[in-house]
Amino acid sequence: MSTNKSNASSRRDFLKKACGAGVGIASGVAGLDRAWAKAGKAADADPAAMPRRPFGKTGVQVPILGLGGSQNLMNRQLLLAQALKMGVSYWDTSDNYSGGRSEAGIGAYFAKRPEDREKVFLVTKTSSSSPRSMDASLRKSLERLKTDYVDLFFMHGLSRVEGEVDNAVREWVADAKADGRIRFFGFSTHRNMAACLSQAARLDWIDGIMMTYNYRLMNDSDMRQAVDDCAQAGIGLIAMKTQGPAFSFGGDEIMQRFVDRGMTKYQARLKAVWENPQIAGICSHMDNLAILKENVAAALDPSALSGRDRSVLAQYARRTASAYCTGCGDVCESLLDDAVPVADVMRCLMYAHRYNDYQMAREAMARLPSDIRQRLLRADYARAESQCPQRMAIGALMRRAAEEMG
Ligand code: SF4
Repeated sequence: MSTNKSNASSRRDFLKKACGAGVGIASGVAGLDRAWAKAGKAADADPAAMPRRPFGKTGVQVPILGLGGSQNLMNRQLLLAQALKMGVSYWDTSDNYSGGRSEAGIGAYFAKRPEDREKVFLVTKTSSSSPRSMDASLRKSLERLKTDYVDLFFMHGLSRVEGEVDNAVREWVADAKADGRIRFFGFSTHRNMAACLSQAARLDWIDGIMMTYNYRLMNDSDMRQAVDDCAQAGIGLIAMKTQGPAFSFGGDEIMQRFVDRGMTKYQARLKAVWENPQIAGICSHMDNLAILKENVAAALDPSALSGRDRSVLAQYARRTASAYCTGCGDVCESLLDDAVPVADVMRCLMYAHRYNDYQMAREAMARLPSDIRQRLLRADYARAESQCPQRMAIGALMRRAAEEMG
């Protein structure tokens, strides 16, 4: 999912502060008003107006904006209806989001509006990896979702393909497709993404992948190559965490340019991803109507980012690099004497401090080894810090995670 998660009022507050902090206050406020006016109109958009792109070689077209479901969708029935009305018909969920209440929320929606099931490209994920447990997981997901099939079934959060996506899984996938319970299969990844994508491209039976991808990672040469590999292999790609949030604030004055141009910085970051035609769509965490409308407005807006816009994003990425973990866990974790899943812990910190979603952060921490607090506190991070491409203060951040969530 995308990291597009701050609530609408905090976005407005940020933008107004940004406008007030520098020159061009009047033009900033006017730009902000234009952005919100466009978002207001998005609510009336024809669902057919939502641009769609081919999803790899599946023959299916998906909307370029999808709804990320890592939230309790039992409480979001109106949001689901509005999303579909605006053409956001790619719905992403997982067996473990919000303790199953994400899938159950979609199931409650379909129970009430069964005619909408066919309009949705429904994606769920399993935390399991053996065919037997994947089968049980899928059965439970279908029960909760109140449907007899999902369009796309992902293995959740892979950090490597070799040894995980093996022949036994392939055979199970063939059976699940044959009996009509899944249409397509793939995996999601937010660790070691480039390696996962390149390895998957060498297989010939992966239909789709959802990976962390944003204005920061798109400039990494390994990632560019991996995306090329998948595009050539006909694998459909969905980008998540497209806002690329840094742990700490800073450099926001650079982003003022986008307000002056009549778009929010969140919209600019979405556009940067959509400008790569190899990406079929963005899966964005949208937990209220204001964010949904803002993102739909960006999807419907045909204007392109300029070269200057792209260089502003690149400048911002450089300025805030040391506050953003790119998930390359193989780099730092191999240099630690203690087995600390640094990239996973960094993601928990991001959920807590940039999404303000402590529940999601705690749930993710709970999936880590039970003695994680001791490991976080006793590890020596000096060598890992020296090799981190983002120059992150790994030790300080791991200790902070131990204190706050361990
Ligand atoms: S801390 Fe640095 S080396 Fe480790 S995963 Fe994050 S960016 Fe990569």
